Amino acid sequence: MATPVKKPWAILLCKFSDDPNDPSVTTVKDLAAQWRATASPEFIAGNLDATWDTDNRTILDLYELFFTTTGIFTNNIVDYFFTVCHQLVDVTGNQVFPITLPMTIAEGAAKALNPGGAAYQDMIFQKAKAELQNSYGVDWKDFYGVAVSFQSADNGSQGGIFDGGPGVFMDIRFVKSQGAARWGHEMGHGFGLDHSRTNLQNWSFCTGGAPNDYTDPYDVMSWNCNNKFADPNYGTSGPGMNAWNMRLMGGLDESRVWKSGSASAVSSRITLRPLHNLSSPGYLAAELPGIDGDSNYLVEFRVPQYWDAGIGGAGVIVHRYAQDNSRSFPNVNSYIMKGTNDQKLLGVGDVFEKGTGPFSRVKVVSIDAAAQTAVVALCYTPDAVTVPKVTIAFGAGISLDPCTTKVPVAGTIGAFSFKMTGLVCKKNYTVMWSVDGANTVAGQLNSQNTFSIVTPDPSVKVTVFITITFDDGMVITDSLSFNPITDQMAGWLYFICNLSHERLKPIPWWQWDPEKFRQIFSQYSRAEREHIAQAAEKILNAIKNAGGYLK
Ligand SMILES: [Zn+2]
Repeated sequence: MATPVKKPWAILLCKFSDDPNDPSVTTVKDLAAQWRATASPEFIAGNLDATWDTDNRTILDLYELFFTTTGIFTNNIVDYFFTVCHQLVDVTGNQVFPITLPMTIAEGAAKALNPGGAAYQDMIFQKAKAELQNSYGVDWKDFYGVAVSFQSADNGSQGGIFDGGPGVFMDIRFVKSQGAARWGHEMGHGFGLDHSRTNLQNWSFCTGGAPNDYTDPYDVMSWNCNNKFADPNYGTSGPGMNAWNMRLMGGLDESRVWKSGSASAVSSRITLRPLHNLSSPGYLAAELPGIDGDSNYLVEFRVPQYWDAGIGGAGVIVHRYAQDNSRSFPNVNSYIMKGTNDQKLLGVGDVFEKGTGPFSRVKVVSIDAAAQTAVVALCYTPDAVTVPKVTIAFGAGISLDPCTTKVPVAGTIGAFSFKMTGLVCKKNYTVMWSVDGANTVAGQLNSQNTFSIVTPDPSVKVTVFITITFDDGMVITDSLSFNPITDQMAGWLYFICNLSHERLKPIPWWQWDPEKFRQIFSQYSRAEREHIAQAAEKILNAIKNAGGYLK
């Protein structure tokens, strides 16, 4: 396991100089009462719910609990990054610093209008950082990131780069009501992540970013449209982070990722444990080569618990990532790769595949909800994928006798098998046999690997058919037509075969040990022998005339 990297944040809990509330005295309840008395009905409806009116935490308590190790058992942001980043991104060094800015509420409001926007936020960052130095003797550069968070309602709620460093600008309302769901997202921007997206989707029901932003319901970087759940301490939480975003911020334990390697073909079944369950043994993700210029695919198993409590059902998800150079920072987006039936969450039997060679494929074989395991079949080939070919063969298995009849004999049971070539990735398939011109053996299923018929008279033309249907819907077929042969003909062919077979050996058949010759001959009835002898003589004459060999 890699070494955890310390990435602490300085949380600058800001207030304007004429804000009367002391954050270590004023409670969340007090704040709610003030707002209910002074703010507009729209503001109250949009920001306050009943939990605010009974929340006895002081403002500072709320911040300490949410941002520092003090509240590590309350679903706070330290626990969030600790868990979803495989204990590799360490924010246990977070500290909260109450800051009084040298400007009044009115001055702040004026600056929020002009220059407004990012210029306003950068200016507030600079002032707050200066106060951090003045009041505490602390340099903001000793921290990985800085959050400026007002204890009053302020303008904007973003994460990214502020005043030259990773930062978040977002006030107390988002700590009290949106918790790890929102701070995980905005601090995620500070850690360099962009919004999560969906492959080949260029629209979203959600707004706020590029057209397909916020379209991964299973990732925190899709804040506007992902699967959150209600949290008693901080309003909202979840979901966790997808494997690509974890990797992008250095939070994926690579020793727990099954990797296919790149150049050669691979086909494997592995068991995945839930992505964020570092304490489970085994693989937490799997990696397959990307196709058509995609990054590699990361395959993950997610279950509805802990930070993922709101995701609904358990399932497997595939992601890639790409850089979006139309954006400055952050500009790395993860993309959820949908299954062959347009699913984002793959259930049992579902498949993700891409390419015609090279080709990558993921199939969910089974999910055990109780054991929290998912078995996935992973496959990659660098070669062109061809349509598989099926061929019917007479005979149920491999015969050691090379002279066994190649055509069914009238009145006997004829058994058929098939072989397949060009099959990539061990796709699942179903078999269906049928026959024209003959009866099947009673009680037999027509979906087995072999198929038997009662072989009719030689005058009847028989055709055996096979249809193979793959789990991705592809169908291939073969048929085999023949007229059965008589038992006598079969014996004759057997003899000729033995002759020609032995003829290939160093000693010509006419120099054989007479005993061996008798052995073969003795397997035939008198009538057969006469018949064979006549036929053999004709053949031998023909050979003599041609001066060649039996071929
Ligand atoms: Zn965002």
